[in-house]
Amino acid sequence: MIQVQHLVKSFGSLEVLKDIHLEVSKGQVVCIIGPSGSGKSTLLRCLNLLETPTRGKIQIGSEMIDFNGQKISESTKRKLRFKTGMVFQGFHLFPHKTALENVMEAPLVVKKERKETLKPKAERLLEKVGLFEKRDAYPSQLSGGQQQRVAIARALAMEPEVLLFDEPTSALDPELVDEVLKTMKELAQEEQTMLIVTHEMSFAREVADFVLFMDEGRIIEVGVPEQLFSRPKEERTKQFLAKFI
Ligand code: ADP
Ligand code: MG
Repeated sequence: MIQVQHLVKSFGSLEVLKDIHLEVSKGQVVCIIGPSGSGKSTLLRCLNLLETPTRGKIQIGSEMIDFNGQKISESTKRKLRFKTGMVFQGFHLFPHKTALENVMEAPLVVKKERKETLKPKAERLLEKVGLFEKRDAYPSQLSGGQQQRVAIARALAMEPEVLLFDEPTSALDPELVDEVLKTMKELAQEEQTMLIVTHEMSFAREVADFVLFMDEGRIIEVGVPEQLFSRPKEERTKQFLAKFI
């Protein structure tokens, strides 16, 4: 489903991602952990082309872009971008639109889908995240956990092949974290392919097919949760995990 080869991203002279390789199969859940500044967000942002990679290849589903050669056209980028949906730490809902309107917005504008066909689909998605009753509420009338679940429904509305989560629970009050993790667990059980940057180690242990530990722009260690959390091989992984015990 995802294949990343020799991915490099630089900002000026600062190389933030260094020769990243990654393969994810359909239905897999991959958690990415690592210290602040290690390049986790930049990796997700490269996968959905919020950032343009400096070098390397990215394939998602049937779409592949090789960033080593000539300039990439916007239409090529758009095809790859449609393969992924992103959920951010800070929700980023449209404040003047209701939950339902937020979920409908992208397919309406980008895919030019008809409102009549879209509405029942958007309602189903809100139901899936447990917010059907809140469909006419505005973001300011929702808790952080509810807003994030609307953001998940909104990402699903574009029917992406891969969902990307960048610290989806980091901005939430502690008592609101579980409802968002529960929604994500349900998606994992439905074999939704997901890449999740998170500091929720027990969640990662429970749902991830494998875990990546990143440091200083590199993937330092990859393993199934049991191995990576209980028997990390690399010294840097050990040191990082020690902070969470
Ligand atoms: P993480 O998500 O693991 O905390 P990031 O991917 O946000 O790490 O950042 C990795 C490094 O890239 C940091 O040193 C950060 O300052 C730098 N960086 C991220 N985005 C930009 C940008 N747009 N311009 C310059 N430097 C950036
Ligand atoms: Mg980040």
